Amino acid sequence: MTTPNDSSPRLRTCRCCAKKFAYPVKGNAATRHHCEDCVGLPAATRKIIERLNTRVIQLENQVRRLTPKPAATVG
Ligand SMILES: [Zn+2]
Repeated sequence: MTTPNDSSPRLRTCRCCAKKFAYPVKGNAATRHHCEDCVGLPAATRKIIERLNTRVIQLENQVRRLTPKPAATVG
């Protein structure tokens, strides 16, 4: 017996814009790593956006680490 989830699309995160998209979808140009919006961009442009997106993710993680827990009340 084989697993039936072979053909069903999975939710992926775009490397460029961090958008969640389903892949694979019939008639959709999206690839494993890029959504249909970003897949049409020139490779050089996509590379720069990917680099910036990586920095955004790093900064988001840093903010999360530096944000005090909501349980602590001031005043
Ligand atoms: Zn995208």
